[in-house]
Amino acid sequence: MSRVYNFSAGPAVLPEEVLQEAASEMLDYQGTGMSVMEMSHRSKAFDKIIKDAEADLRELMGIPDNYKVLFLQGGASQQFAAIPMNLMKNRVADYIVTGQWAKKAYQEAQLYGKVNKIASSEDQTFSYIPDCSDLPISEDADYVYICENNTIYGTKYKKLPNTKGKPLVADVSSCFLSEPVDVSKYALIYGGAQKNIGPAGVVIVIIREDLVTDDVLPGTPTMLKYKTQADNGSLYNTPPCYGIYICGKVFKWLKAQGGLEVMKERNEAKAKVLYDFLDQSDLFHGTVRREDRSIMNVPFVTGDADLDARFVKEATAAGFVNLKGHRTVGGMRASIYNAMPFAGLEALVEFMREFEKENQK
Ligand SMILES: *Cc1c(COP(=O)(O)O)cnc(C)c1O
Repeated sequence: MSRVYNFSAGPAVLPEEVLQEAASEMLDYQGTGMSVMEMSHRSKAFDKIIKDAEADLRELMGIPDNYKVLFLQGGASQQFAAIPMNLMKNRVADYIVTGQWAKKAYQEAQLYGKVNKIASSEDQTFSYIPDCSDLPISEDADYVYICENNTIYGTKYKKLPNTKGKPLVADVSSCFLSEPVDVSKYALIYGGAQKNIGPAGVVIVIIREDLVTDDVLPGTPTMLKYKTQADNGSLYNTPPCYGIYICGKVFKWLKAQGGLEVMKERNEAKAKVLYDFLDQSDLFHGTVRREDRSIMNVPFVTGDADLDARFVKEATAAGFVNLKGHRTVGGMRASIYNAMPFAGLEALVEFMREFEKENQK
């Protein structure tokens, strides 16, 4: 068996210990004589899995008691619709568009009401985060929406926007559990699991209790109503059981590592290895404004599309896989989530150094 260094943006690398533990429990989960994939979502064993997962996530993130935690399906993209359906009481919302995912959410919300683009960084290919200290927040806005870490472009909000008292909704798909977070600053936090947490098929929504109501837009499907899911402990119908089980293992792994403070330190140290190399390289350079750099997704280019393609090809052959940039951006992108070891960054930079030597301009 040989594992590669997987720099995929998602589905992405998971901790090896978690995969091994899941493998060891595949045929007989804790004496039940069956795999978690084969058991009832109403069974005692699964009840403990989902309750432990929620409790561990609450502990990791310090989620206050007045927030609900929901394990749902449909990916982050389904939340682009579920959020306006549940929260747009006045049918008005403000969106900050900092990348393709924020833009998709902004476009989807327009199906449900008046949606204002109050800031954007599209003028410079989403390579920065706009100043959000004094935006024209709409008086009747039901919420202000951000995508906190822009997976494709590699930018991250270092400071949350000033929403002037309006509820803040954040897509944290690609920075979930990468660092400590003050949940109380948000009305709703959500993300797909397949970036930094677990397998595709699970999306986690953390929502303040007072926003979980029956007062949703007419026509909202029962399944997409947060109240339905909250009232039923995410078990209104069959949830993504196996995915939740793996997420739960990742939460335990994160706790064993020392929690989110430790992950933040590690993630910053990992990102620094790559950014420091990019900053001194004559061949490679980063594409994002320095102060807005993500510590999860690092896009970079040589400035020559053919050379980029050759780099990706040679890197793949050397065991550094999924470094090709998003199809809309080109170049390269290294996604360096929680489960990517420090050694992976050191080895990648060493490989880049060699490639630069062999391809002096
Ligand atoms: C990947 C991603 C999405 C889309 O996730 P799906 O689960 O495929 O719908 C949305 N937002 C962000 C920030 C992402 O990185």
